[in-house]
Amino acid sequence: MKQTINILTEKVINQIAAGEVIQRPSSVVKELLENSIDAKAKNIHLIIKKSGKSLIKIIDDGIGMNKQDAEICFLKHSTSKIEYTQDITSINTMGFRGEALASIASIAEVELKTKTKTQDTGILIHIDNSEIKKNIEIAMKTGTYIAVKNLFFNIPARKKFLKSDQIENKHILDTFSQIAIAHPHVGFKLINNELDIYDLKKTNLKQRIIDVFGKRYNKKILPIQEKTSIVNITGFIGNPIDAKKTRGEQFLYINNRYVKSAYLNHSIKQSMIDMIKSDYHPSYFIFLSISPSLVDVNIHPNKTEVKFEDEKSIYQILKSTCKRSIGIHNITPSLDFSTESGFEIPIPIPNIKHSEPKIKINSNYNPFNDKNNNQNTIDTLFTESNNTIKESSNGFTIKDIINIDKIYALLKITINDSNSINIIHKKHALQRIIYEENKNLLKNKTYKPQKLIEPVNVMLNKADLELIQDNKNIIQKYGYHISKISQDSIELDACPQNITNHEIITFIETLLEGIKDNNPNIDDIIISLIAKKITLNQSIQDALDSFEDTRALHVMIEKLLECENPFMSIHTSPCLVSIEPNNFFE
Ligand code: ADP
Ligand code: MG
Repeated sequence: MKQTINILTEKVINQIAAGEVIQRPSSVVKELLENSIDAKAKNIHLIIKKSGKSLIKIIDDGIGMNKQDAEICFLKHSTSKIEYTQDITSINTMGFRGEALASIASIAEVELKTKTKTQDTGILIHIDNSEIKKNIEIAMKTGTYIAVKNLFFNIPARKKFLKSDQIENKHILDTFSQIAIAHPHVGFKLINNELDIYDLKKTNLKQRIIDVFGKRYNKKILPIQEKTSIVNITGFIGNPIDAKKTRGEQFLYINNRYVKSAYLNHSIKQSMIDMIKSDYHPSYFIFLSISPSLVDVNIHPNKTEVKFEDEKSIYQILKSTCKRSIGIHNITPSLDFSTESGFEIPIPIPNIKHSEPKIKINSNYNPFNDKNNNQNTIDTLFTESNNTIKESSNGFTIKDIINIDKIYALLKITINDSNSINIIHKKHALQRIIYEENKNLLKNKTYKPQKLIEPVNVMLNKADLELIQDNKNIIQKYGYHISKISQDSIELDACPQNITNHEIITFIETLLEGIKDNNPNIDDIIISLIAKKITLNQSIQDALDSFEDTRALHVMIEKLLECENPFMSIHTSPCLVSIEPNNFFE
């Protein structure tokens, strides 16, 4: 019988492994940059030609390798980083599988030059098709130089699979930025097709972000910091006002390793609930530090997916850390004529004495009382006579209010001796106040449902019906009452006041979605949804009319400035836009 089982040669094994580790030129860039960082390099140059397809060259000033190490570093499982099994759980370097160089050497031509501090001469090794073709002593500075040429020359199928130069360059740039952001204390240079793309000097994280993504980030990012027993968090989040429709700069690191986590991305987004539109994405540069034994970043060959124990706690801690930062660095949209997108550029108001986003409750105001009663409450909220200039609890003084028309008014706000002229959108501002009051009421009380004249039927499939059955208590907590559960539907005979039939269905759908996603914020989402609906259905025309009297307007603006998020309408457009003289006359 013909023998059918073959033992694969080392060369073939390496080529197969290479398929996992090296998918495209940017994978080589990642492995080489990480090796240089592990070798404690202070300066790293990356030189690329033809999007890395013809050349990827790295020059570092790290510790280098001696002759013996240089000769074996291209063998599979050659690593200086682990020796014993327990090392794997305490590893703090970027690589430790010892397969990057072996993989690269099996699919490209490689030239290595390296020298350690203690040696007088360096060594040059030329590898072609996994075989050492040249091995000579050379004169060079301490550090390592690796040139990778003609990637995938011996695997034409892989080569064909590569995308256009433009796309491959984009991958390289992404990888380069991910690593440069994580190591601001290392200088990086990127040269692409002889063009200097980046020359990043050693600096701190904030300056590195600005150096990589541009000066406009100076005002755009808010610092975050939190220390807990399970996770430490540092970094910056983009101002919610600057969130974009395209997924922007989202950099998340665990133990300084770039990772992707849809779950934690969601937690960051949730910290901005009400501040950004649901299809917008915030930018962030966040570093989590977790004991390596509680996280497994090695589940994917490219090591960007991540798994950890106690995912839910990390989700909550991250969310409240971001939320607190937004609260502390309370932000107002401001006009800035130096850019085109004037209304979108934020500036922080300095030194507002906020610690946590605060919750203020007007205990006399209940949106679930009958309609007339509600209306009276809104009216009386804003008709108190109050035109004397006094400082509000958070340090603002409001002066010189002028009604422009039915929609807008002008006013001066002083805080810590700095003045700003502001335009307020009266309706948006009023809705924001009512919305936050509704939200706080929902958070703090259990409501008695208001009976519906006709019960509302919501058709559901079997699985959803079961979920509803199991979560009946959540539904009732917010003033809804289920009167009947049948084979294919539920019937509700009560709901919070000012909610329409259509909105009852939206509520049930949102609730089901949240339960299915195992979303730990389901309460927040539901409260925001109901509070928004109630606010939008509430009649506010009389209150708006009362603002013709600037004293009523004054009271309203004071209330606005006490809101958790005074600057954004519930439709996530600005309520209050600030014109800072410094922005124009600098
Ligand atoms: P790993 O990084 O997983 O250990 P690699 O194949 O990437 O495996 O590298 C193998 C070994 O080669 C490393 O453990 C390290 O000792 C050495 N090495 C690689 N690149 C460098 C470098 N730029 N400077 C010094 N040593 C290096
Ligand atoms: Mg490595």
